[in-house]
Order: sequence, then C-alpha cells, then structure tokens
Amino acid sequence: MDDCHRIGVPTPFAVGRVNCYVLHGDGLTLVDPGPASADAREALAAGLAEEGYELADVDRVLVTHPHMDHFGDAASVAEESGATVCAHTDAVGWLTDPDAQFEREQALFEPFLVSMGLPERLSDTVISLPETYRDFRDPVTVDRELVDGDTIDAGVELEVTYTPGHAPGSVCFLADEALFTGDHLLGHISPNPLLTTRPDDPDERTRSLPSYLDALETIQGVDAPVARPGHGDPVTDIDGRVTEILEHHREREERVADLLAAEGPMTAYDVTQELFPDLPATELFPGMSETIGHLDLLEDDDRVTIEETDGVVTYDVAG
Ligand SMILES: [Zn+2]
Ligand SMILES: [Zn+2]
Repeated sequence: MDDCHRIGVPTPFAVGRVNCYVLHGDGLTLVDPGPASADAREALAAGLAEEGYELADVDRVLVTHPHMDHFGDAASVAEESGATVCAHTDAVGWLTDPDAQFEREQALFEPFLVSMGLPERLSDTVISLPETYRDFRDPVTVDRELVDGDTIDAGVELEVTYTPGHAPGSVCFLADEALFTGDHLLGHISPNPLLTTRPDDPDERTRSLPSYLDALETIQGVDAPVARPGHGDPVTDIDGRVTEILEHHREREERVADLLAAEGPMTAYDVTQELFPDLPATELFPGMSETIGHLDLLEDDDRVTIEETDGVVTYDVAG
C-alpha cells in the first residue's frame, strides 16, 4: 500500500508514540487517531498537513482496540470532520462510556486482586492509577460496529479479523499489502494480556492470555507482507514474530510451573514478585495480569490445583 502514511502521535505513556495510519482511497481513513491531548492533536494535524489534508477531511476513523492511546481523540476528530467511527462490537461499551467502564473495572478488580494476594494497602493505589489519565480520552459514538470477517471499503478493501486478548474488541485490519495490528502484534515488545471485565459479563474477568494466544494463532500464515503495528516500526516477518511471542509465553508458563513446584502453594502476587522483583505500583496491574495469564494457561492444561482459604487464592502444581 504505497498510499499508507504513518503519523507518530505522542502519548503520556511509557510506550511512547502511537502510530496513526492514514489511508487514501475512497476518502481519507485514519487507523487509530491517538489520545486526546493538545500535543497529540497538533502532531496529528501536522502529519495530515504534510500530505495536504486537514482534520476536517477525514471520512473514516477505524479503532483497533479501546485503549486511550489509540482511540482517545476519535470523538474530536469525528466532531470536526463528520467522520464515521468504526470499532468492534465488544469495544463499544468501553468507547461510548469509558468512565463507566473504569468503574466496572474498579468494582471487580479491587476485591479480585486482594483475593490474588495483593496487599490491601496497595490495592487502592493500583486500582486508582488509570484515573490520572482520564483526560486523555473522550467518549466516542461508534457509527459502525464491526465483527470478524466484515469488510470495510476504504478505497482499499480492509478485512476485519477479531483478535481479543490484549484488549476486548481488539481487531486487525487486513489489506492486500499490510496487516494493521494495533497492539495485537508489536515488533519490539510482547503485548500485555491486560485483565479487564468481560464484554458479555462485567462481573467476570477476562482470561486474557489464553484468548490472546488463540488470537495470535489466527494471524499466523496471514497473507500480508508486513504488519503495521500500533507502536514502533513495521514488522516484516509476521510469522516469525508470532512464533517468538508464542515461545516467550510457553517458556514463561514453564517458569511459573517450576516456581510452583519449588515454592508452592503461592498466590498470584507471590509469583509476580518472583517473576518481576521490585515492580513499581504503576506496573503491578500489568505484571499481575501477565502472571494470572500464565496461571490460567496452567489451569487450562490441568497442571495446577487452586485453593481458596479465607478469601485468598493459592496455586500449586497438580499431582
Ligand atoms: Zn493497547
Ligand atoms: Zn497501545
């Protein structure tokens, strides 16, 4: 796709810039406009201006997944341009009312993380952290809800592949010459299988890592020469990168099994402390999400026993 231009939009997060892709064809399409901030908006406008466009020219905004570094400014872009916003059905609740989603997550995860061994003195801090970033996203109305297999005619045809795991409602967009992966496949970091509430049952958590690995397999062998990720440079060997990430998680699963065999029973928090010593509070939620993901894999493989005593859950090797 010669007509694809990448704009690096600044974010307030450690991950750095987010990639907004500009597709010209039947009108002007943006894949992930970036977060809502003056800096981000300026970078987006400057990137469009380089090609002779302005924000008002945008016809379509595609959202790869409902994280604010990707979708935060979608509402403003749509307001200014009248663009149609497209996102997966499972992302709609997050996008249309991010505050309500934040409250659902707080309600579920504060007690849940304590049951996973997180000290109570830390749970409030860990759960409240995302509040700091509220300003970086605005609620956005989704004009077109996408499901797996849908096609979007943006001059180039884009096929929607449903890839949940890093986030609910995560999708990749497949064009002839590139796969737009959002945070499902990144070249330089292993995407975090963040826990959240289930789109179909907000009282239950997602099993994010098992979902993620299944969805990673769905893009194996995909017919595209390059992946254009949400952060960092294009990935030219998609299958090679998929294999690397799958192997990384298999190794981590074995490491957790070995730990439990040596030191179990352990809580998920104990395991997190062993895997990632000295994690700052800001990284505890992603760290515990990852650990719980590996414990979920071991549970799915019938390799652990799970006990609950006085509201605290411990894991041990089975057999
Ligand atoms: Zn993300
Ligand atoms: Zn991201």
